[in-house]
Amino acid sequence: MGYAEVSVNSPAAQRRAFSYTIPPDLNIEVGQAVWVPFGSKLLQGVVLELTDYPAVTETREIAGVIEHPPLLSQPRISLARWISGYYLSPLFDALALMLPPGFKRKALTYISTTPAADKDDTSSELTEEQKYLLNLVQSKGRVDFREVEKALGVRKARLITSQMVNHGLLTKSHQLERAKVSPKKVRHLHLLITPDEALREAARLRQEAKAEQQARLLEFLSGMPQPIPLAEVRRRGNCSTSVVQALINKGLAGLQEIEVRREPLHHHDITPSQPLLLTSHQESASAAIRSSLLQTVADRPHADVFLLHGITGSGKTEVYLQALTEAVKQGRRGIVLVPEIALTPQTIEHFASRFPYRVAVLHSRLSLGEQFDEWHQIRNGGVDVVIGSRSAIFAPQPDLGLIVIDEEHEWTYKQHDTSPRYRARDVAIKLAELTGAVVVLGSATPDVETFYHAQKGTYRLLQLPERVVPKQGSPLPDVEVADLRSELKSGNRSIFSRSLSRATAKAVASKEQVILFLNRRGGATFVQCRNCGFVLCCRRCAVTLTYHFTEDALVCHQCNYRESVPHICPQCSSNRIKFLGTGTEKLEREAGISFPQARLLRWDRDTTRGKGSHQEILDRFRSHGADILIGTQMVAKGLHLPLVTLVGIVNADLSLNLPDFRAGERTFQLLSQVMGRAGRGASGGKVIIQTYCPEHYAIQTAARHDYTLFYEQEINYRRQLHNPPFTRLARLTYSHTNDTLCQREAERMKHRLTGEIETKGIDNLSLIGPAPAFLHRLRGRFRWQLVLRGAEPSTFLSEIPVPKGWTIDIDPVGLA
Ligand code: ADP
Ligand code: ZN
Ligand code: ZN
Repeated sequence: MGYAEVSVNSPAAQRRAFSYTIPPDLNIEVGQAVWVPFGSKLLQGVVLELTDYPAVTETREIAGVIEHPPLLSQPRISLARWISGYYLSPLFDALALMLPPGFKRKALTYISTTPAADKDDTSSELTEEQKYLLNLVQSKGRVDFREVEKALGVRKARLITSQMVNHGLLTKSHQLERAKVSPKKVRHLHLLITPDEALREAARLRQEAKAEQQARLLEFLSGMPQPIPLAEVRRRGNCSTSVVQALINKGLAGLQEIEVRREPLHHHDITPSQPLLLTSHQESASAAIRSSLLQTVADRPHADVFLLHGITGSGKTEVYLQALTEAVKQGRRGIVLVPEIALTPQTIEHFASRFPYRVAVLHSRLSLGEQFDEWHQIRNGGVDVVIGSRSAIFAPQPDLGLIVIDEEHEWTYKQHDTSPRYRARDVAIKLAELTGAVVVLGSATPDVETFYHAQKGTYRLLQLPERVVPKQGSPLPDVEVADLRSELKSGNRSIFSRSLSRATAKAVASKEQVILFLNRRGGATFVQCRNCGFVLCCRRCAVTLTYHFTEDALVCHQCNYRESVPHICPQCSSNRIKFLGTGTEKLEREAGISFPQARLLRWDRDTTRGKGSHQEILDRFRSHGADILIGTQMVAKGLHLPLVTLVGIVNADLSLNLPDFRAGERTFQLLSQVMGRAGRGASGGKVIIQTYCPEHYAIQTAARHDYTLFYEQEINYRRQLHNPPFTRLARLTYSHTNDTLCQREAERMKHRLTGEIETKGIDNLSLIGPAPAFLHRLRGRFRWQLVLRGAEPSTFLSEIPVPKGWTIDIDPVGLA
């Protein structure tokens, strides 16, 4: 008899797999989705392994197969096991990352009455609440347990239901929630007679019945070899539903449901592109990647990882494209990850035009239906290149040969809000190890940890130190650092330093374009009472509320809570309410006053709510429909805007002042990226950085475009302070509505972990905290955190059962 190790979709399963017997009539394969009994429920499972012996003595039988072809390949099963083990997440959650979108379904509980309950004599012994529940179920026949919870509250619902089940009056049953997505079917119209018959019939209808419209539709259909979607029939055949119905009634045409693909890319609108002739730097980078792609997988013990360190505008994309072409030539395929925000059609287009009709996209802004169809298209080997945000690393791309991660330093590659809290870069390297694929990480400002590995030789460093410019000689932009302290001293209270003000006016006058960058949206960033100093905060998150001019409202940037601006101070009733701090909205106003001739355009989360709004703003700016683009970090991302000659960084200090050891790195990255937008055309460019800390090494080195100098400083600090890459971190966060309880639980955990470290005699692990998290209060819950730092915090934590209420984040980014 055969056995299968199955990962089960139940919160109770955690990181374990379970042994099941394979019934003789079922053909079970590794990677297949199956139904399995689990407790009293029938749940989804994925087969991880086939064995001759079960891991436990008593096993139950697999109940059935959900879908025949296996959904997961062996490398992806191993990858899921690694993710679950390393990031300490439930095994099924890790597998679900790789399953078809919308596959994972919860089991719902339903309550119904038993025959005993229908006899009248029972109800006299029941309490009021029990009677209420019985009536509810009797009136509806069968009730979703969530409804009972809503009516009685979670705890009571459980208690009373289980009392009634024990009395034998109610029973529970379980059923999976409805599938969220399925293949899309569209009604198509087709002829039921031959085209010749149709033409004859059309002539007859026109003459005898004067049915001109029906005749025209028949003629139209006679020229169509395939069934056509009904909507298209109406549009192209220019006729109404009643005309279609008439043909159907006469038995001349019929309707048929046909599966169609929901496609996010409009392939036919894309013009194919040819490979460019590489510069010598591009060529040597390309050659290195090519030779690695040519090696057989068996020749290498670890994944081949390249770091392509190329300054902004150095032509990294062309290197990716040609590497992909090489992989495709060998019959392999690629996955390209880009940061979420760069998923503007412009980026996707580069890839779609080089591989016409052979590109799929995957990201969270697609509808579930589109994701579902792209997934199946990819799984069936339908595309050469998958491009998408971090989760696209889990695309079922067969014959994987190359993984590209563009802007590899971006924090969006870390999933921090839901489990599994994985880092896509590390997942990619693991996947490459399992599949023999080659990894290319690209950035102008590599993550300090990545660069460290490249220095040590774990990764191979490829450099593009020069910009590719059509006209020779446009170098990196000149940078000036404007000291805001001396501006204040000389009486300039405007947000613009004198030199930024002059340079902006000059650029606008010469019909050039300007970008003003400020990494904070909104109008005033906080609102304070001048009388008593009270600052208006979000009641649930304890962060200051930001004033937004357009809505004339105060908004919490954490939870989106909104309220109107009070006329009097809630604390002292004074009416001296003052607006302080600057966000992009205020910057836009100030720019309007200072540069009245300039046409302004703002790009931040508030101006890009609608679908396609990113592209609209970008198109307008690119076609010189505005002179000054004001924006948050959205303006920093890989845009190629040749008319921009001036970039003003309005306040470089915002990211410097975060309580996070990566604040310096973050600032350097942001500044370099924004600066990279200047002078990409023939007329060169200038950058002005405004700051109160002009001596800071991150600002100094960014101003000199000197990554290496920045890196040397930064890596020294990391070494001295025992921060990554010299250690690894794990963050443990506890959240609760009660702050004191939260703190006590954090203290208890610290005690527990310290004890464990001592008992086991581990000397390379230390604990930091507990301390309130940077966002101490979020959506009404308090948060305390502990940071575990050392060689292998994940291995250490994997052996400790972590109580409910705690979340663990391995290799967290953004400690603030
Ligand atoms: P990066 O991603 O490194 O910032 P891009 O890939 O955006 O740089 O390249 C900058 C510009 O140079 C793009 O317009 C690109 O089309 C162009 N380019 C890249 N490589 C070449 C080349 N070999 N010959 C001519 N133009 C190139
Ligand atoms: Zn809030
Ligand atoms: Zn007050």
